[in-house]
Amino acid sequence: MDQLDYKIEDAVQLNKPQIAALKKLEIFTARDLLLHFPFRYLDFSKTQKLKELKTGESVSVSVTIKTIASRFSFRGRMSLAEALVSDDTASVKVVWFNQSYLAKTLKKGEAIFLAGTPEVYKGTLQFVNPIYEKASDFPVHTSRLVPVYHLKSGVYPKTFRNLVKSCLPLVSGLSDDLPAKILNQHELPNLKDTVRFSHFPENLEQAGLANKRLAFEELFINQLAAQKTKLELRAKAAYPIGFDQALIKNLLARLPFELTPAQKKAAWEILQDLEKNLPMNRLLEGDVGSGKTLVALMALAQAAGAGFQTVFLAPTEILAKQHFETAKKYILSPQSLSTDTRCVLFTQNFSIVNSKETKKRNLLEEIREGMPGLYFGTHALLQKTVKFKNLALVAIDEQHRWGVEQRAELIGSQAKVPHLLSLSATPIPRTLKLARFGELDVSQIRTKPKNRKAILTRLVDSRDRQKAYAFIEKQARAGRQAFVITPLIEESDTLGVKAAKAELSVLQKAFPNLKIGLLHGRMKGADKDTAMADFLANKTQILVSTSVVEVGVDVPNASVILIEGAERFGLSQLHQFRGRVGRAEHQSHCFLFLSQETPEAKERLSAFCKTADGFELAELDLKSRGFGEIYGQAQSGWNFKYFNPDYLALIEPARQAARGLLTDDPGLKKYPGLWAKIKDKIIHFE
Ligand code: ADP
Ligand code: MG
Repeated sequence: MDQLDYKIEDAVQLNKPQIAALKKLEIFTARDLLLHFPFRYLDFSKTQKLKELKTGESVSVSVTIKTIASRFSFRGRMSLAEALVSDDTASVKVVWFNQSYLAKTLKKGEAIFLAGTPEVYKGTLQFVNPIYEKASDFPVHTSRLVPVYHLKSGVYPKTFRNLVKSCLPLVSGLSDDLPAKILNQHELPNLKDTVRFSHFPENLEQAGLANKRLAFEELFINQLAAQKTKLELRAKAAYPIGFDQALIKNLLARLPFELTPAQKKAAWEILQDLEKNLPMNRLLEGDVGSGKTLVALMALAQAAGAGFQTVFLAPTEILAKQHFETAKKYILSPQSLSTDTRCVLFTQNFSIVNSKETKKRNLLEEIREGMPGLYFGTHALLQKTVKFKNLALVAIDEQHRWGVEQRAELIGSQAKVPHLLSLSATPIPRTLKLARFGELDVSQIRTKPKNRKAILTRLVDSRDRQKAYAFIEKQARAGRQAFVITPLIEESDTLGVKAAKAELSVLQKAFPNLKIGLLHGRMKGADKDTAMADFLANKTQILVSTSVVEVGVDVPNASVILIEGAERFGLSQLHQFRGRVGRAEHQSHCFLFLSQETPEAKERLSAFCKTADGFELAELDLKSRGFGEIYGQAQSGWNFKYFNPDYLALIEPARQAARGLLTDDPGLKKYPGLWAKIKDKIIHFE
């Protein structure tokens, strides 16, 4: 066995707590240790003579210990070690608080390096708690860019650096999974150099190169898995669904409005894809309120009308129910669909066929037998017990991951792969889309239905709260309704429920004449349903809600949304909230309140007030808050460690490289190392 793969405790001397701490970091072998990279550096690369020292500058010095002793400071109530050190230019005092043992570790006459920032004390310069190490040709704690690691308690930064240093000679045994040709082409260091450069760089360029290589590798692996998945998908067939003009005509005739040109174009693109026997992979992107649901419903109706099963997956029960109701209203008619086509709602709490409650067991049986129809549901539809027989189309709403995995889960033992349509209101820069999932076709709805007015957005000073309330009161008297969003707290958290309830009682006092409803993620499905139904029917005029309301809830009569603690949300998310109003002809308003009125928050949010374009807001989020904001907290599958917005330019090269390699060697037979890295990431369709 290669020394690199020895257990770490056999390769170097370690005590039990250290071994345990390393295990927590998933470091079991010397290889793991070497591949645990620092995330930043302390810059102690500047070395100085003692005579040149200045306050406030991080430096390293090379000195000899003249005297060293420990004592107890009664005033500070702590023990300390005090030393006088010198070089050939001057002497300087050094104090280490709470480290009196150093008086024994370090000896008079010993040559050491110190790293720190000198301070003035009683008129003279001194070092307080500097990092020290024995003088050597290869310092690792001082006199260089010093690596800083994510660690767990039980292992000190110094210990960890020493461990890396002692394992560093093993680097010669590391083999690189990335082909040399690709590295050369993109001027990236090989793995050996990357390890050396990353842990102990000679300068920032080296550290930067190492990071770049790691980011590239991550993107490359990600692309390789995505493209391999795509290859597998391409080898599969889908059910071709013929265009049924009469059906679409009937459906459109039932709508109380005309489709917008953008909706028509998107629907056209989708219906054309459905006619092919290649699985569709399409993202339908459009700002909140742009009318994506109907476009999706047209596609689902088309497939269901042809006798297939179709699924519309929603992230929440509320939303699944809402789509189900919309579908029943517009689609479920004897004219447009054959009589044995159904609209089904299948969630944790519901199991309804058309208007009839049905036993889950019976419904599951019908699904297995291939009963055609439109199945609306949540994750409940992804359970193993749900076995579709001829599922031809899956539409996924507001799922930023584009449903690739979900489609694979739904496929069961079917020979054919369903077409996939993903709906998203989160505008994602194209480059990032590629990073997440190779290529996918995109239909965009960039214009809204004509009857919409711009939503007037205002950042409200806390002193003007009563004015905002008075405004809501007036709107309610005119027949309108309002959402109130409580500050962001984990949806599952009882604190979130508490906050929402507290807000409810505040508002009940402020609006004694209005009925106020409450909606939060911890409520039972039926209660949520009642709360939504009451609001929709204007039985309640105000709905207090946690962020559950974010995703797609449609109440056209609502004209005000008041958001508390707005600074805690990303702009994209605020935009989603704002999209809850302005969904009909009424002039709508969005009021933002801050829980902490900092200048940064005010600036960020005033940009939000001025911008109605979701794409622009997403770009702002990307700049100010990185990727996380765009993809939302709950997004898994976006777990890049090294890739960040600085490396956007690497996406395209990584994609090309992955494609080139797979063209050469689709099974990655020549690259077992790469295969091992992607094999669990490929999504199989069988
Ligand atoms: P989103 O794209 O955010 O999912 P929805 O599909 O929920 O938007 O549509 C928002 C609202 O606009 C719904 O009430 C829907 O009935 C309505 N709507 C959809 N298309 C049109 C249209 N062409 N003209 C007028 N209203 C429309
Ligand atoms: Mg929607």
